[in-house]
Amino acid sequence: MARDDLAGTHDGAQPGPRADLAQSDVPAQPGPHAGLAQSDVPAQLDVRADRTRCVGSGMCALTAPEVFDQDEEEGLVVLLRTRLPRRSPHADAAREAEGLCPAEAIRVG
Ligand code: SF4
Repeated sequence: MARDDLAGTHDGAQPGPRADLAQSDVPAQPGPHAGLAQSDVPAQLDVRADRTRCVGSGMCALTAPEVFDQDEEEGLVVLLRTRLPRRSPHADAAREAEGLCPAEAIRVG
């Protein structure tokens, strides 16, 4: 088959399912901070740990040792930092620890 025979078959001009919609007609996907100006999104995250829920598993201290520790007596969570820059490796680790805590004792946000 000559190359010219293929012209127009795979030229990327296939209309998509919403080709007839103007860009402004396509519904926007709201994010967690929809409606907030960029300056309204806090630059810092608050970190909280509820020692009354903590069962001393140590997942938080293992996952985010810069943010969480455990006390010597009972092994309960100790917060080393209560605020973290939103976009930082420590914030990422703290969020991961929040998800791993078996007692749901950690809140990051
Ligand atoms: S992961 Fe949860 S239960 Fe385990 S020590 Fe940390 S706060 Fe306590």
